[in-house]
Amino acid sequence: MVSRVIPVDPFDLVIFGATGDLARRKILPGLYRRYMAGQIPESSRIIGSARSEMDTAAFRTLVIEAVEEFVPEARRDAASMKAFAEHLHYVRVDATGENGWPELAGMMRDGVVRAFYFSVAPSLFGALAERLHHFGVTSPEARIVVEKPFGRDLETARALNATLAEHFAESQIYRIDHYLGKETVQNLMAVRFANILFEPLWNARHVDHVQITVAETVGVGGRGQYYDKSGAMRDMVQNHMMQLLCLIAMEPPYHFDPDAVRDEKLKVIRALQPVDADDIVRGQYRAGGKKGGGEPSYAEDVEDPATRTESYIALKTQIANWRWKGTPFYLRTGKKLRARTSEIAIVFKEVPHSIFGDEEGWRENVLVIRLQPNEGMNLKVMIKEPGPGGMRLVQVPLDMSFAEALGEDGADIPDAYERLIMDVIRGNQTLFMRGDEVEAAWAWTDPIIAGWEARGDRPKGYDPGSSGPEDALMLLHRDGRRWREICE
Ligand code: NAP
Repeated sequence: MVSRVIPVDPFDLVIFGATGDLARRKILPGLYRRYMAGQIPESSRIIGSARSEMDTAAFRTLVIEAVEEFVPEARRDAASMKAFAEHLHYVRVDATGENGWPELAGMMRDGVVRAFYFSVAPSLFGALAERLHHFGVTSPEARIVVEKPFGRDLETARALNATLAEHFAESQIYRIDHYLGKETVQNLMAVRFANILFEPLWNARHVDHVQITVAETVGVGGRGQYYDKSGAMRDMVQNHMMQLLCLIAMEPPYHFDPDAVRDEKLKVIRALQPVDADDIVRGQYRAGGKKGGGEPSYAEDVEDPATRTESYIALKTQIANWRWKGTPFYLRTGKKLRARTSEIAIVFKEVPHSIFGDEEGWRENVLVIRLQPNEGMNLKVMIKEPGPGGMRLVQVPLDMSFAEALGEDGADIPDAYERLIMDVIRGNQTLFMRGDEVEAAWAWTDPIIAGWEARGDRPKGYDPGSSGPEDALMLLHRDGRRWREICE
């Protein structure tokens, strides 16, 4: 199978924060990979910008080093890196001052797509939007790409939406959630809406419950100061996991069109029920490590012995609509867990009557959508255990790894950022969050956080390399269910 590269129009992409971590690790290497795929038109320019004193030659060197570090050797070569570098330019700009702006405005061209990637701290988003306008850098068709976090509660998200709306129309604003750029996440929509097989079963009559797991093995590392102000709920649940939940739960949009898809997601978020205190377990990793010691605890990592921020959260939520009434959605995410894995498991109900009697080997059908590692799908079905001796049942997986199923194409699935940046250039907002979606997500999240703050709730300790706090097991046990194993 040969992957099709759909051409995009020539563009000027300005990356604010081009010397930062995200730009070096994801955005710039991603653009190089798109260049290698033949998707960067000849006349396009990538204009890096930050406060650091640097000229274009130094910026090109920085980008080549980033490509060498973050693109596997087999997928890069010196000649193409040099050719790619010809597209790169640098302008020194201070988001909060006057320096550099007239120069940047002078570089802008008519007749090409104009996009501005805000890869800087969220506190600078407003200043950038304002100056793009004030110095005449932007145009009515220009696009801005806004990184996460988008606010830290409903109030701040509303304020940010209002600030951006002063200078840009909603159709110009691309709020990035890189989970939506993951191939498997888009596959969720393909699986649901391009097959007749699943949709008739995709409701509370047939689905017992849904589990969404995003488990990491790493701790907060160098991001401790930032992370401690947010925690797992704000960092993962309000955005990424909410988006996954929406794609599983939403009604079929009338068309694969930005507003049609986002309207359906918004309805799901609005139908989410408040979460009871009993339905939440928060955790914090202890000191230790797989080999029994040496690694700091969460509190040590964030250098605050009194911290009450969670590095793990599990919760049960319900969606109050006809399709899902009675089917719980269990979400869990955490750091320093047993394995690095992200998956969605749709656990189906029992057959209405077993013709085999009380067969011990019986298990429910489960559809597992793996986001990482090894993106793919796995449908667990019951078959007869081979051999004589009666009808014994055994559960087997119908397992599909996208990398294997798609051959060469699957081995080189584009990174989420590559896909999303090209969507910005194309002007396709389907995989970006709309302002009302983000606000609705905060409106659901805020009371949950306010609840545990009012109760003075302390996160439960859990050992690094475990599946999280013991109490999280009870969240499902008391409903007669159990979490899937966290394993790669
Ligand atoms: P970072 O490493 O701290 O980089 C920040 C960038 O902003 C640098 O290039 C910095 O360069 C520039 N900058 C700082 N102050 C500036 C100013 N006043 N005017 C112009 N440029 C300024 O941050 P990051 O990790 O790349 O994160 C960037 C954004 O992406 C943040 O919103 C973050 O939340 C989001 N994000 C990051 C990641 C990640 O993995 N890193 C993941 C998801 C989301 P100078 O100091 O030279 O100006």
